[in-house]
Amino acid sequence: MKINLNNKMCIIGAIKTKHGFQIFKQLDLKIKTKIFSPEIRSGKAGKYLAFSRENITGIWAGMNEHGLTFTAADADCKKDFPFSNQDKKKLFNFYEKIVADFSNLQDAEKFICEKFKKDFRIADILAIGNKEKFILFKFHPPQICERHEISNHALFCTNHFQETKNLSLNLTSEKNSSTFLRLKTVQKLFAKNKKIEEILQNHENGPSEKSICRHGKNGQFFTQACVIFKIEEKLTAKFILNSTTCQGKFEKILLK
Ligand SMILES: [Zn+2]
Repeated sequence: MKINLNNKMCIIGAIKTKHGFQIFKQLDLKIKTKIFSPEIRSGKAGKYLAFSRENITGIWAGMNEHGLTFTAADADCKKDFPFSNQDKKKLFNFYEKIVADFSNLQDAEKFICEKFKKDFRIADILAIGNKEKFILFKFHPPQICERHEISNHALFCTNHFQETKNLSLNLTSEKNSSTFLRLKTVQKLFAKNKKIEEILQNHENGPSEKSICRHGKNGQFFTQACVIFKIEEKLTAKFILNSTTCQGKFEKILLK
């Protein structure tokens, strides 16, 4: 069976806690990439925590002093939407503007939806959240803009439009097993009350491209970083950079 490998196979999600939300991203890349330590930067909306990586400006995840948090899963539809390096730059800079310029979810949502209507004709899966709410967007031009909002419980997402109706991507659990199996695993572990930290280190169906912590036997893909934003009484981020989650040690940074 040919395994359908994509450059990025991230998992994102959110879990409601007693005091707020924990929003996370596991970053998987095909090419070994230097992931930079988080920086505290300043934007129109005040201070924010920026997670960036080499060869691209902008961020892959971030949280600002109002607790507004962004992360993206990316979408495995790139062959349908030609995507240049210039587009990638634009996209990551747009990601950064979400946490740099906005203090509330409503305004950030408006900004995101307008951008995808006018400026980005690409497929993407991204999410924003704060202490009260988590919103997951799935954009697939021309017709799909899916929005899933939770203010309680949990929501997880891998890179495919698995549940999207009226979209003929011909996904099958065999052809796209990685994305299906990892989503199932994360949901199952959450149901067993596992902590996010533990879930992100899990090797069920692996370690392979089908497990949450991913390792390719020949290094052809692997988990390279993860971040968990804790938007509770304090605003903190726990992260492992430049390592698989199972081998790294969590570091912590306090924003507020
Ligand atoms: Zn591992």
